Amino acid sequence: MENCLFCKIASGDIPSSKVYEDENVFAFRDIAPQAPVHILVIPKTHFASAGEVTPENSALVAKCFEAIAKIAVQEKLDTGFRVISNCGPDAGQTVPHIHFHILAGKKLGEKMV
Ligand code: 5GP
Ligand code: ZN
Repeated sequence: MENCLFCKIASGDIPSSKVYEDENVFAFRDIAPQAPVHILVIPKTHFASAGEVTPENSALVAKCFEAIAKIAVQEKLDTGFRVISNCGPDAGQTVPHIHFHILAGKKLGEKMV
């Protein structure tokens, strides 16, 4: 999609610190990490958020989670990690291309809200 930051990162038009890539999925380090390990996992195909998952694109969500499991091994996240997807303004979503945050590298807070 034109003018989408994460589409441009996935295509390589905007540089990023790549962690993982396959046919459907791209993962890279967050530019403003909120934990010692903070990785963003995105489908290469654009859709906005968890609120736009449909029968046509839900397989891409599964592909993202397959990638997350591989990244956890690759990055040696043996003691655990958290996956978050913000959807819409109340959740603080700032980039309208669906993405999954992987947070790890320390004992994370026990509560999310
Ligand atoms: P959201 O707030 O939408 O859930 O998450 C967007 C994330 O993208 C934020 O954690 C933010 O730090 C990250 N981000 C924004 N712009 C860039 C960028 O240009 N490069 C990288 N690597 N991360 C970015
Ligand atoms: Zn996009």
